[in-house]
Amino acid sequence: MKTDAATTDVVIIGASAAGLMCAIEAGKRGRRVLVLDSANKAGKKILMSGGGRCNFTNYSIEAENYISENPHFCKSALSRFNQWGFLALVEQYKIPFHERDHGQLFCNDSAKDILHMLLAECEKVQVTIQLNCKIQHIVKNSEHQFRLHTQQYKIQCQSLVIATGGLSIPKMGASAFGYQLAEQFYINIIPTSAGLVPFTLQTGDKEKYAPLSGIAVPCTVSNSRQGFKENVLFTHRGLSGPAILQISSYWRPGEAINVDFLPDFDVANMLNTKRANKVMLQVKNVLVERLPKRLIDALIIQKLLVLSLQDISNKQIDEIAQIIHHWKIKPNGTEGYRTAEVTLGGVDCSAISSKTMQCNSVSGLYFIGEVLDITGWLGGYNFQWAWSSGWCAGQYV
Ligand SMILES: Cc1cc2nc3c(=O)[nH]c(=O)nc-3n(C[C@H](O)[C@H](O)[C@H](O)COP(=O)(O)OP(=O)(O)OC[C@H]3O[C@@H](n4cnc5c(N)ncnc54)[C@H](O)[C@@H]3O)c2cc1C
Repeated sequence: MKTDAATTDVVIIGASAAGLMCAIEAGKRGRRVLVLDSANKAGKKILMSGGGRCNFTNYSIEAENYISENPHFCKSALSRFNQWGFLALVEQYKIPFHERDHGQLFCNDSAKDILHMLLAECEKVQVTIQLNCKIQHIVKNSEHQFRLHTQQYKIQCQSLVIATGGLSIPKMGASAFGYQLAEQFYINIIPTSAGLVPFTLQTGDKEKYAPLSGIAVPCTVSNSRQGFKENVLFTHRGLSGPAILQISSYWRPGEAINVDFLPDFDVANMLNTKRANKVMLQVKNVLVERLPKRLIDALIIQKLLVLSLQDISNKQIDEIAQIIHHWKIKPNGTEGYRTAEVTLGGVDCSAISSKTMQCNSVSGLYFIGEVLDITGWLGGYNFQWAWSSGWCAGQYV
């Protein structure tokens, strides 16, 4: 069949974590692979991740660390190419790394090390990467080939892989391309929203807590679905820090969250004991031993804080303990995709094979990485999903 378009085996749209991993694996199998990206650089999110040090995986990866309408979907890929598989590659390239809290693995030097490693692997197996490429439209022709029209040229391929990520950080080139393409092929999309994102506060609360900007406190933050023990950071816009980012992925508009400012500690017991021991201090001077003064002033009314321990009632002690261990705050919303690390929702996994990442109803069409309705916790889980799903698709495209 004569055609005016060049032909290749595999086209991958998205030259970042998932797309590059898929390209490497397909290239190893001798497939001719072309990776297209609209950005002027590959792997921009890898470069900005983990504060520039890329939290590339985690020592402990479980399906429970992911959010999806199909909670079992991620299991197969995560077990076939797991954290140890990726770590072996990192070690092969002698990239120095270290472990932080909760098994999180970061580069010692720079996220560039991870991107360079992926690009070097792509080069080894002759993957072609085309940047600044605007894709205008895609059709599947009668020969079961995908035909891509870009601003520059037309190209045909047998296997088309969508690795265009989610909507977070539009400044970095995030687009709804993957979702639109899925819809073109009648694939369902689970509604999307910003995840791993700071909360904004209602006007009154914002004014009240803005003076706390910069204070970070180790807390337990929870709602009826999940709880995380990490730092909460007060900002001039609202609440951030790892505990808040984590719970934001489980939060629904209109809900309050619960914050325990002194987890594993019993404030009521401390106040009771000191009162019994005839300690003469004011309540605030006892609490500052445990929490920042500015925080105490904002949380608890002055009338209680200035009381002497010898004058405080049981009821008042309970009132203070309630505020410190069960502070309830109703966020106004989130900062949205502008600052979110991930996108919740996406291409419905029930339309995709969990083994191959191929779409059940459109042969040759694959979805990998964040564009799918799989969202990891903070801590290297999102990259591991990109590596695992990209690796799996790479075995079949
Ligand atoms: C600030 C920040 C820090 C993060 N830190 C971490 C971390 O330390 N650890 C961790 O696990 N996760 C982290 N994440 C999340 C992680 O970056 C993503 O989950 C991961 O990059 C998803 O990989 P992906 O390949 O699916 O998509 P992406 O990395 O988003 O890549 C998608 C690619 O598709 C391209 N693209 C988009 N639209 C089009 C189009 N229309 N045409 C052509 N190309 C297109 C983009 O240019 C991009 O190159 C962080 C995210 C952010 C925003």
